[in-house]
Amino acid sequence: MPRLYLHVALPVPLRKTFDYSLPASFTQQPAVGSRVLVPFGQREMVGIVLSVSEETDSPPEKIKAARQLLDEHALFPSYMMQLLTWAAQYYQHPIGDVFSSALPTLLRQGEALYDNLSHWRLTPAAEGLSATQVSRSSKQQHAWKALEMHHHHGISEDFLLHLGIRRDTLLALRKKGWAEEFGQLQRKIEKPSLHYAESPLVANPHQQQAINAISQHLGAFKVFLLDGVTGSGKTEVYLQTIASCLANHQQALILVPEIGLTPQTVARFRARFAVDIVMLHSGLTERERLRAWRRAYLGQAAIVIGTRSTVFTPMPNLGLVIVDEEHDLSFKQQDGFRYHARDLAILRAQFSHCPVVLGSATPSLESIANAKTGRYQLLALQQRAISHQETPVKLIDLRGQKLKDGLSPALQEAIQQRLHAKEQVLIFLNRRGFAPVLMCHDCGWQAKCPRCDARTTLHRQPLRLHCHHCGFSQLPPKHCPDCHKEQLFAVGAGTVRIEEALQQLFPHTPIHRIDRDSTRRKDSWHELYQAIDSDKAAILVGTQMLAKGHHFPNVTLVALLEADSGLFGADFRASERVAQLITQVAGRAGRAHKAGLVLLQTHQPEHPLLQQLLQTGYQGFVDLALAERQALALPPYGYLALLRAEANYPETALEFLSSAVSCGMNLPDCPEFWGPIPAPLAKKAGIFRAHLLIKSPQRPVLQRFLSIWLGKIAELPDIKRVRWSIDVDPQEL
Ligand code: ADP
Ligand code: ZN
Ligand code: ZN
Repeated sequence: MPRLYLHVALPVPLRKTFDYSLPASFTQQPAVGSRVLVPFGQREMVGIVLSVSEETDSPPEKIKAARQLLDEHALFPSYMMQLLTWAAQYYQHPIGDVFSSALPTLLRQGEALYDNLSHWRLTPAAEGLSATQVSRSSKQQHAWKALEMHHHHGISEDFLLHLGIRRDTLLALRKKGWAEEFGQLQRKIEKPSLHYAESPLVANPHQQQAINAISQHLGAFKVFLLDGVTGSGKTEVYLQTIASCLANHQQALILVPEIGLTPQTVARFRARFAVDIVMLHSGLTERERLRAWRRAYLGQAAIVIGTRSTVFTPMPNLGLVIVDEEHDLSFKQQDGFRYHARDLAILRAQFSHCPVVLGSATPSLESIANAKTGRYQLLALQQRAISHQETPVKLIDLRGQKLKDGLSPALQEAIQQRLHAKEQVLIFLNRRGFAPVLMCHDCGWQAKCPRCDARTTLHRQPLRLHCHHCGFSQLPPKHCPDCHKEQLFAVGAGTVRIEEALQQLFPHTPIHRIDRDSTRRKDSWHELYQAIDSDKAAILVGTQMLAKGHHFPNVTLVALLEADSGLFGADFRASERVAQLITQVAGRAGRAHKAGLVLLQTHQPEHPLLQQLLQTGYQGFVDLALAERQALALPPYGYLALLRAEANYPETALEFLSSAVSCGMNLPDCPEFWGPIPAPLAKKAGIFRAHLLIKSPQRPVLQRFLSIWLGKIAELPDIKRVRWSIDVDPQEL
């Protein structure tokens, strides 16, 4: 027998794989994509087998034997191997880290995929009975229906729990002889099927066209851009195409933004489909996450919904991929393995030969450009599904106005009117806390973070200054540290201050604040929905958390307090983000049958972007912005990568990047370098940061250059003095 070597990806920051020999103790040859436990230095590590061959580049006497095979079958089926290998190369990230970040933590740590959870199924005696014949208890009827739906394979106890069915209910059914427990977990790949819990709505003609276009392509790769204003019924299009996918016994994967996985979204899917739905969100325990992952992996879960990293969940019968709010920044991982989940979702669909739908009311310029060239098929929903009226958007000129904590008299008046009519008002301000600046009246001193180039935000209850960049916090000083006077005052407003001001102005109206501080607890969203009585006047104050996925039917006025904040950012995408935010926020007004109004407070009423948005909406803005990008050869008409460096001294990072430029100049296909420059927040948590932008007119050229250049950079003499990373297709500069 020839000697076989395993080529293994290990979670170490090295851009290579490691070879191990196959010990005699292994009873089977490891499958590609399975985990092995191997010795590494003084430790043991969990690695992924990328390939098995007779060849090795290492001297055979240096090669150690793998210790233990952890999986009988591949955890990463071939389409996942394809996706992750591609991603490691494209994002220029160490392959071991790519594979390990694609796994739930417990699997990464070597935990067994299968545990000994018991399963339940109906007994043969129960066949053909109906729920009412079985029991009068509604809990037992519920359990019965779930078991009946899955009577071929039985259901695992964790999934039953997930459906709200407790063990004592199952035991009661067992006592009557209708149900039985069995130990074996089904390890066979299953195929889901379609079970409705409620009937679909009747699609309007635009929706029907979209549904047909997508459904006709099930079974083949194609990218659709579903461009529809908020409330135009995109979710209904998703639901009905998912139904076609399930009818083919295939699984659907739905990616949502971080703050888009709201109880309302979840409830809509559960209300429509009586199938196994997996939700992957940050509230799961590691054990729950592993079991959810396993249900997807075994094909039991018909629908998998989750944020960014859900794109890595293996699904043996994947038939449809949906990316909701595809423009959202949270799809881009901002540290470590900096992938873009929307872009990987497209590749995933390609490898699984299925359609992918990118949906948004404000698509990214990248996706719109792809639709214009015909690479994506555009599906437009131009009208709101329920109320057909447009929501007017008006500017409030703040110049020379007397403001009450950031609220202009015109806005106060408009709020009063809505409250009077027992309607609700939504107020946005993208800053939590009480006030962004604590300042000395006498000398102009401002409270800053000692570890960052940033001011600290004043919070009340408890009274502290917080840095929103590094987490630093301290008690506010009683006196100015510079001039020792006592006249310190809070400048500017955060959500807490606005809440207080509104409470004074409208003392009899319930006011709800929604930001990261107020929604930290697990049930806070639920409580919030309970508290907001849709028949009564109320004011909601919040950060952009409120802009997505939430539906408050009685909101008729939406106000943005600082519509121009962000207009002057250094990032070339700043204007795109402002346009998206304003459009999305505006979509929250008048979603039901009542007429809505959007008010934008600004000091820059003549700003061309605001004027363009007002006159032509997001579409008009897009045409203008695309022309601008084209002129500058910026994405989507050029391709970028960002080399970031961090060091303990201000000059070190810049010097390192300069040597990186010099070594790149000598290479073939050298792209344009912009920089190096200090990063926008040059000092963060005591570390100095700089970056270098790399720009090329062609993606493959940039890719070729990066793979050679990064190898050279790793050999630079000052590499040890910095922490560096490469960000391909950076979203934030
Ligand atoms: P989007 O996802 O585009 O914001 P939704 O799918 O949430 O829009 O739809 C907005 C509202 O319109 C929802 O209350 C939804 O139930 C309703 N709706 C959507 N499509 C239809 C339809 N074909 N008939 C009736 N109501 C619809
Ligand atoms: Zn002072
Ligand atoms: Zn800080």
